Amino acid sequence: MMMTCPTCGKKIPYDKGNPWRPFCCERCKMIDLGHWAAGDYQIQGAPGSADPEFIEQELERMRREALEKSKD
Ligand SMILES: [Zn+2]
Repeated sequence: MMMTCPTCGKKIPYDKGNPWRPFCCERCKMIDLGHWAAGDYQIQGAPGSADPEFIEQELERMRREALEKSKD
C-alpha cells in the first residue's frame, strides 16, 4: 500500500513504523507545520478572510435596521 506525502507529493510505502506519517520524512512534517504557523492555510471564519457574502448580509441587516429606525 502506497501513500502520498502531503508536502512533497512523493509516493511512499505506508509504514506503521514511520514516525512522520503521513509525511515521508521529518523535513516534510516540519514544512507542513511551518505552513500552519505562518497562516498559509485559510481558516474559515478567521479574521482577514472575510466572506463577501457575509459582508453583504451584514450590510443588508444594517440597511434594514436603519429603515426600522427611520420609521419612528
Ligand atoms: Zn515528503
